[in-house]
Amino acid sequence: MKTLNDYNFNNQKALIRVDFNVPLNTDFEVTDATRIQAAKPTIIKILEDGGSCILMSHLGRPKGVEDQYSLRHIVDKVTEVLGVKVTFVADCIGDEVATAVAKLQPGEILLLENLRFYGEEKSGDVGFAEKLAAWGDVYVNDAFGTAHRAHASTAVIAQFFPEHKCFGSLLAQEIDSIDKVLNNSEKPVTAILGGAKVSSKIGIVENILEKVDHIIIGGGMTFTFIKALGGAIGNSLVEDDKLDLALEILEKAKANNTEIHLPVDALIADAFANDANTQLVATNEIPEGWMGLDVGPGTTKKFAEVIANSKTILWNGPLGVFEMENFSKGTISLGEAIATATANGAFSLVGGGDSVAAVKQFGFADKVSYVSTGGGAMLESLEGKTLPGIEAIIG
Ligand code: AMP
Repeated sequence: MKTLNDYNFNNQKALIRVDFNVPLNTDFEVTDATRIQAAKPTIIKILEDGGSCILMSHLGRPKGVEDQYSLRHIVDKVTEVLGVKVTFVADCIGDEVATAVAKLQPGEILLLENLRFYGEEKSGDVGFAEKLAAWGDVYVNDAFGTAHRAHASTAVIAQFFPEHKCFGSLLAQEIDSIDKVLNNSEKPVTAILGGAKVSSKIGIVENILEKVDHIIIGGGMTFTFIKALGGAIGNSLVEDDKLDLALEILEKAKANNTEIHLPVDALIADAFANDANTQLVATNEIPEGWMGLDVGPGTTKKFAEVIANSKTILWNGPLGVFEMENFSKGTISLGEAIATATANGAFSLVGGGDSVAAVKQFGFADKVSYVSTGGGAMLESLEGKTLPGIEAIIG
């Protein structure tokens, strides 16, 4: 795996695909600069080597040129986070960029306009990729968030840098973290899968079944398993067409000596609302008219014991409807258990959508080993798929 450390960027122009798809408020101010922060080590290493950086990214889902998606809105924030002045160019191909790139000196940074102002970016157009490729001596991919897309700037472009392409330090870290969990893991390995539906996690379960020792199931998908096992789940979330699949997973796990841990108690509610009436019951004894919206204290205790004995932990998906305060306790307790295990030497990776949001919201981001920056890319990696953005660098 070629990384930044394999290059000396002295006098080199590095063309870097970053993921600056950051949230903006109605005044076009950046409300969460995590993704800009995440790209900083790569950019600073290149500048410190004596190189210059040409940053390219997408922002949102524009249909053609739409000012609300212009990357000019984020220039000040990028300058602030990097501590180096960033010059914006109002296009990503063409004469204006050519002039700016020709003038670019070591230590300087250019930020190009939104790649997705051109439909050719998403369609993976080779000609467009070649135009972008003209701007750099070395291509660096540091955009994990889009590594699962075969777009012009994330994958297609790499063919124009047969000898001069590498991963940025963020992307290298993401690859390394997944590897530490799935391939080079210290045992016992525990995967916690929560969230809404079995159907969105099935690819992950199938890929990890043979690689992990324990799978903890939580969240809405619990009830598909409980119903498949003959339990009463009341009005809880369920996928009736996945009942056989749930049983199949349990069988396969048994055959692989992978222990599956299901919640034993549930905090149930008489409505999908924070102020609904609640009761604590066994997960398989939920009355009609009630639904499980969080795990109960018995489950929390049981899961914490498994986690305390794990050396490697993967967490994807909340254990309950954590967005509502009254149903967030299970997810918070899980975060605490993972934080404690991490402090005691375990490696913990949190990845994929809502668990990342939960970890940030409840203040665990600094207490786990690694929080992934990519939602879809992380899920596809955990499903065992080779990501086009990664393959393009390795290949
Ligand atoms: P996912 O994107 O699949 O990880 O699902 C995350 C969503 O699952 C969050 O919005 C949670 O509110 C939701 N969720 C977690 N537990 C439950 C539950 N018991 N019933 C319904 N939704 C849930």
